[in-house]
Amino acid sequence: MELRDFIREVPDFPQPGILFRDITPLLADPVALRESVEVMSRPWLGQEIDLIAAMEARGFMFGAAMAIRLGAGFVPVRKEGKLPWKTRAISYTLEYRDDILHVHEDAVRAGQRVLVVDDVIATGGTAGAVVELIRQLGGEVVGAQFLVELAGLAGRDHLPALEVRSVIRYEGT
Ligand code: AMP
Repeated sequence: MELRDFIREVPDFPQPGILFRDITPLLADPVALRESVEVMSRPWLGQEIDLIAAMEARGFMFGAAMAIRLGAGFVPVRKEGKLPWKTRAISYTLEYRDDILHVHEDAVRAGQRVLVVDDVIATGGTAGAVVELIRQLGGEVVGAQFLVELAGLAGRDHLPALEVRSVIRYEGT
C-alpha cells in the first residue's frame, strides 16, 4: 500500500500560495490509518518512550494512537485558552501565521522521555516550539515523528541533534 496515495493536495488553503496536504482520506481508510500508526510507531518501540506530546488538532489523531501502541502516556499541546489547568506557553511562527501553544505545567516530570508527534512538518516552527516547551518542563525529548515531511521547507533545521522521522516525504513544499 502506498500511503501517499491517501494524501490529498489542496492548492491555496488556508491561504493563497499554500499547498495543503489533507490527511482526511488517509484517516477515513481503515487499512491506511492502521498502517500509518504502525509505521510511525515502529522505530520507537523499545526506546522507552514515557510520553507522546502532540499538537492540536491533527497531531492528536496520530499521537494518541501511537501512545497506545508504544505503551506511553499522552500530553496534549493546545492553542490559547483550551487547557483548564496552569500552563506554560511559547510563541512560534507557522508556515502561514504566528501562534502560541500551551501545555499543562505538570504534564511532564523531570527526566521523562518524550516523543513529539504531528501530522505534517513544514517549516518546523511548531515542532521546535513543542520541543522547547517539553524541555522547559524538564522532559528529555527523544525525537520527533511526523507522517508527512515537506522537505523543501527544511523543518528539520529547527530540530537539531534530534532523531527526526517521517513516513511520506515531499521534496518541495
Ligand atoms: P510548521 O510549524 O511550519 O512545521 O507547520 C506545521 C503545522 O502546520 C502542522 O501542525 C501542520 O498540520 C500544519 N501545516 C503547515 N503547513 C501545512 C501544509 N502545507 N499542509 C498541511 N498542514 C500543514
